[in-house]
This record gives sequence, C-alpha cells and structure tokens, in this order.
Amino acid sequence: ATPLSVTIGTGRGARAGVLYRSAEALQGAHDVDTVVLDKTGTITQGRPELADVLTAPGVDGRLLIRAAASAESNSEHPLAQAIVQAAKDRNLAMVQADGFDSVTGEGIDATFPPGSFQEDRAEGPRNGDAIHVLVGNRRLLEGKGIESGAERSDHADTQSLFDTARSWEDQGRTTIFVAIDGLPAGVLAVTDQVKPGSRQAIHDLNERGIQTIMLTGDNQGTAEKVGGQVGVNRVVAQIHPEDKAGIVKALQAQGHKVAMIGDGINDAPALAQADLGMAIGTGTDVAIESADVTLVSGDLNAAVKAIDLSAATMRNIH
Ligand code: ADP
Ligand code: MG
Repeated sequence: ATPLSVTIGTGRGARAGVLYRSAEALQGAHDVDTVVLDKTGTITQGRPELADVLTAPGVDGRLLIRAAASAESNSEHPLAQAIVQAAKDRNLAMVQADGFDSVTGEGIDATFPPGSFQEDRAEGPRNGDAIHVLVGNRRLLEGKGIESGAERSDHADTQSLFDTARSWEDQGRTTIFVAIDGLPAGVLAVTDQVKPGSRQAIHDLNERGIQTIMLTGDNQGTAEKVGGQVGVNRVVAQIHPEDKAGIVKALQAQGHKVAMIGDGINDAPALAQADLGMAIGTGTDVAIESADVTLVSGDLNAAVKAIDLSAATMRNIH
C-alpha cells in the first residue's frame, strides 16, 4: 500500500463520517463478503418506547406498569428505560425493591415489600407476604416455572394474553411479559423505530454481493418482521449475547470474510472477532474500543462507504 493512497482514503473516510483505527483497517475492508449486524441500536434507533399494554383479567393497568417499572429501575437495559419512562409519564412513583436479580438476555426478577403497588393501601400496614415481580421474555417466565398458556387451568385468560403478544411480535413490536406472584399479569409492547438509512444501506450491501445477517436477542417474530423491513438476507434471533462472537467465528470457519456492525457492550467480543469491526459512534465506548472502524453518525450508509473506500484505496495500490 502506498502511504499516499492510505492518507487519501483516511481523509475521505473522515469527511464521510468513517473513522479508521489504522491503515490495516482501511485496507482490510475491501474483500468482506458477509456483514453481520446487531438489531437494537444498530439497525434500529435503540430508543424503545412503550406502545401498548394488555393486562390479565383483574389486573389494573397502572399497577402493572408501576410494578414493571419498579423492577426495571434496577436494570440498565434499553427496554428497562422505556418502561421506567412510561411510568414517569404517568406520574407513577417507583417502589424500591428489597432484592433483585438481573438475568442476562431474559429480564429482571425482583421482590418488593408486602402491600407494594396498591395505591389505596400506600399508607396502610405493610404486613403479609413479599411481592414477587418478573419482567422479561418468555424464556424468563418459563425458567421460573410459569407456563405460557395451553397447560394452565386459567387457560382462556392467559391464552389471550400470549396470543396477543404473538400478534404484536408479528407486527415488529418487542413484547415484555410481567408476572406477579407467579401468575402472568400482563404484557407490554415496545417499539423501536428502524433508522431512516438502514434499508438503503442493506440494499446497497446486498447489491455488492455481500450477504447480510441480523443478530438479536429479541424473539423470532419481532426479529423476522424488522429483518424483512430492512431486507437482510438472514435473521438469527433469540441468541444469548455471548453467542454473537461465536456466530462470527463460525462464519469465518466457513471461509467468509466477516464485518460486524454493533453498538453495545454485548457486541464488543464479536466486533473484536470480526475481520472488520465497525462500531456505531453513538454506541458504547467498549464497542468503539473493540472496533476497527467507527461510524460517527450511526447511519449504516457509512458502513457501505467504508467498504467502498477500502476497495478504491486497494485499486490505487495494485
Ligand atoms: P438485545 O440487545 O438484542 O435486546 P439482550 O440479550 O440484551 O439482546 O436481550 C435479549 C432479550 O432479553 C430482550 O429482547 C428481552 O426480551 C429480554 N430482556 C433482557 N433484559 C431485559 C430487561 N431488563 N427487561 C425486559 N426484557 C429484557
Ligand atoms: Mg445493540
């Protein structure tokens, strides 16, 4: 590589919002044949908002949101922030948990003082049993022995809850289940808008003969809907965060040259494993430090630019 062509490529990248960590990063981007993309915060805005609430019969909607938000105030997950914000918007005060457990890739398990969440009993005596709240995906509920419909004696009530959740997922919404004291109490729908440039960028990658694969911990239905909206070739859903790097490695073992685009702490090992790691500039520091390239604005079209610039630089070299 001539130093001049690298300098020119680096300068052009900087103007296009593509920051290369090194000359190797610039030169290495050109023969990528597979781009793996994280969903939340990479393809989507990463600003989830509460869009819908369905309660089980006899459960008050405000109580449901208050209990869910109180549990989620112990979590840093973007979904947790959406629920906490929804409670603030409704002027619902949080209750402090006596204890909580954050289950990676699943949700939150929290315990509250007796009498919590019943507004009319707020100043009454706090005796009786502690209140147990689960907030997360189906895997969390199943792991805690809560069946999701068909096997239950209160079949009709819970079945409609889980059926509605499915239909929300098929619309691209993320569902969050809430169980109180071992019973399904409701489900929350959260939406996270696709970034305006994502569809075009993925189209441009596919057009260059590069296969595009979306990875997410989200459920299959939601993932397939979002993947379809932006046109990725493949969707791998319901994965644990630590699986991302392994998936990149497996693709490399099949002979692919893999670029990974991600924003989260969870993405850092996969960004490091990839032949070319590209971090979203608005993402976490850990992701940026693990990557070869930073896409300053977070617009995925900059990833296409990075690959094109590298190809152009290599053409000047040979
Ligand atoms: P992603 O970055 O794709 O959301 P995660 O591994 O962080 O992947 O989460 C996977 C899934 O686990 C989420 O889609 C959600 O269903 C569930 N989950 C994780 N943490 C929480 C939480 N604090 N509240 C609710 N659900 C959660
Ligand atoms: Mg992400």
